[in-house]
Formats: sequence, C-alpha cells, structure tokens
Amino acid sequence: MITKPKGTYDIFYQEASSWKKLEQTLTSFFAKWNVSYIRTPLFENSELFRRKNDFSEVVQKQTYDFTDKGGRSLTLRPEGTAGVVRAIIENKLYVDTHSNKFYYFGPNYRYERPQKGRFREFYQFGVEVIGDKNYLVDTEIIDMVHQLCVSLGLDVTIKLNYLGGLDTIKKYSDELKNYFTPLANELCQDCQQRLHQNPLRIIDCKIDSQKETITKNLPQLTSFYDSNTKEYFTNITKMLQTLNIPFIVDPLTVRGLDYYTDIVFEVISNKTGQTLAGGGRYDNLISELGGPKLGAIGFAFGCERILSEVEFIEDSDLDYYVLANPAEACYSYDIVSRLRKLNKIIKFDFSNRNFNKKLKDGLEQNPHYLIFIGTDEVSKKTVTIKDTKTTTQVTISKNEFINKLECETNV
Ligand code: AMP
Repeated sequence: MITKPKGTYDIFYQEASSWKKLEQTLTSFFAKWNVSYIRTPLFENSELFRRKNDFSEVVQKQTYDFTDKGGRSLTLRPEGTAGVVRAIIENKLYVDTHSNKFYYFGPNYRYERPQKGRFREFYQFGVEVIGDKNYLVDTEIIDMVHQLCVSLGLDVTIKLNYLGGLDTIKKYSDELKNYFTPLANELCQDCQQRLHQNPLRIIDCKIDSQKETITKNLPQLTSFYDSNTKEYFTNITKMLQTLNIPFIVDPLTVRGLDYYTDIVFEVISNKTGQTLAGGGRYDNLISELGGPKLGAIGFAFGCERILSEVEFIEDSDLDYYVLANPAEACYSYDIVSRLRKLNKIIKFDFSNRNFNKKLKDGLEQNPHYLIFIGTDEVSKKTVTIKDTKTTTQVTISKNEFINKLECETNV
C-alpha cells in the first residue's frame, strides 16, 4: 500500500465539514472587514525566500526546494507573506486604491519534525495590509485578530512586543550578542548558531528561554527605545485599552521570520497553550523585494491548530434519506431523481441490508426527512415520510407528494 508522505494528512467526513465551515466563516468575516482575497502560486522562485539577511530556521533549514525540468530553482512556499508581497509588487497592487488589505488561505510546506500541531503540509490563512506605517493600522490589525478569535470561538491571549525599527533591533542584537557570548557553552546548538546570525531569536528559543542562568540578567529591549519609538508603542497600547481589546506586553515575543520590525504579536490558546497565530510589521520587505518604500503589516493563523481547539459543526443540509429495497429501486429512484430536480439534497440506500441497520445509518446522517418505500408503498403508489425532528410520520400518494413540493418551489 502506498501511504501518505510523513507530516501530511487526509481529511474527510466530519473533519472535511469542519474545514468547509472554517472557510465559510472566514469568507464572511473578511467580507465584513472589506479584505480582498488573494491567491498566489504554491511554488515560487527560490530567491524569493532565500534573501541574504534572512537567517530564520524556516528559510534556512525547512524549505522544500527542487529544480524543474527547465533548470529553475523553485521552492514550495513555507509561508504566505513573501508570495503575497511578490504578487503585490509584480501586479502593482499598491497603486490601486481599491483595497490595500488582502487575505489568503492555503497550504504551506516546511520540512519539520512532525508532532502534534506541527505538519509538513499545513494550512494557514493570513492578512497583509500595505500602506504607510501608522499606529492606527497596527491597532486595526490587532483588533481584527481579536475579532477573528471571537468569531471563531477561540479563547486566547494576545501577546505584543515592540521591536522598534532596524536601528533599535541592531543595537539590541549587539547587546544580546555581548550578553550571550560568555554563556555560549550553555546555549543549545541552534542558539550557538543564532548567536552569530540573529541573537534576537535566542530569547524565544523553546529550550534556552527556560534556563534561568541564561535569562536572569537579560538586557531589556525597552532601554533601547528612543522617544518616538516609545510614543508609537504607547499610542497602540492606549488605543487597544480604549477599545477593550485584551493583550499583554511580552518582551520575550520575537518572531520566527527575520523580516519583522516594530510591532510583533502572537496569539496563544488559553485552552492548550499552543501558538495559534503570529504577525507583525515588516516595513522593509516590499522594498527589499524590489517594490517601493512602503510599509506593511500582517498575520497568519495555523488552521490545523484552530480546528484542534474548536469544533465547527455544520447544520445538516441533507433534506431526504430514502430507504428502499432493491426490488423497489425503479419506483424509488424515480422519486430521488424528481426530488433532485427540485434542488433537494438526497441520499439513498437501496441495499439488501438489514432494515434496522439501514435506518440507524440513515439517522446518523441527520436528514430532515426519512422516506420509506416498501412493497406496500409501491403497490399503492405512495411514499411514507417521517419528519426526524417532530417524529411525525405520514403515508401519502407519490404524485401528491411531488406536486406539493413542486408548488412550494414554484417549478
Ligand atoms: P509562522 O508562519 O511560523 O509565524 O506561523 C504562524 C502560525 O502557523 C503558527 O502560529 C501556527 O499556528 C501555524 N504553523 C506554523 N508552522 C506550522 C506547522 N509546521 N504545522 C502546523 N501549523 C503551523
């Protein structure tokens, strides 16, 4: 048997309905917030992700890279932002005043060690907002994240941190390098590498951030803020308080991808402690990728993690479940066919199986009505219909039943 690749999964039945429902909820949410849908390719030219100053694990170690038959170096997208930004630049969407907010939904690929909530193919949805740097835009994005969590029924904590601009990040990173260098032997292998490439990432390392000897005298990021930086962050937190949006400021929240500056945030589940989403401002990425000097901010949620937190139960949309014997198939299928022409959603079981088993399976599908067709119904040209909600049951003439439905649906 050929099995699915490691770190992937199949979805069907109830789980497939939950995914559909999640997508529907998102579609109507983003319509209300006037966010445009954008779809970009699953693979991009590798250079899009392999930028010279990105030392993040995702980009350095986890991408699925391949060379196509034309010798092009391509990469399955490990995240959504870079592709969306590439599309915005290439299609000059930044000159369109129509919309500067885009959302995406789709799979990403990372060569990670599969575990609970971590897959090699996983779905994210996210939003990117292009435009000038403004604390109102930052506040709106965090407001959107908060409202999304409410709409999805997620109980979360939003953690914020303010990294400042490239200057502040550079100064703080240098200070961290000085601080961590004498502790290098205590750092995990990844962090020993990070010490040279991106010391900021050491402070949110799952292993090292737990060691007291490492975090005890950690330099404080806030001491590197200038007055503008301080004011900007205060403006955001004040507005969030005015809007009653709950958040906590966490100086240890830095993001996994290296393009973030200024505001960064993470959404943590209060139920399981897992990280459901992350985001932040990335004012240098658009120009770095050849676009104009334009600010941007965005976030991404992991769909598998959302679906492991909340169950989306779809209302049954099955109108009729028809139970008949194979001997009555011709009479019964005529009814099925005529009901379908009236746009009714039908399932039927004309098998030879035990009646009680068929009935049990039918009820599990939660139809609005059951239709029974036996020898008696066929000989008298009737159907027996049971309303599964009220449990009332009637036997009526087949023609009367269809005619009534035709009148109701104005056919
Ligand atoms: P990131 O793009 O790394 O900032 O991740 C944003 C969100 O995507 C995370 O908070 C997770 O919910 C989700 N996520 C990231 N990587 C994976 C993965 N390998 N499997 C499942 N979900 C993931």
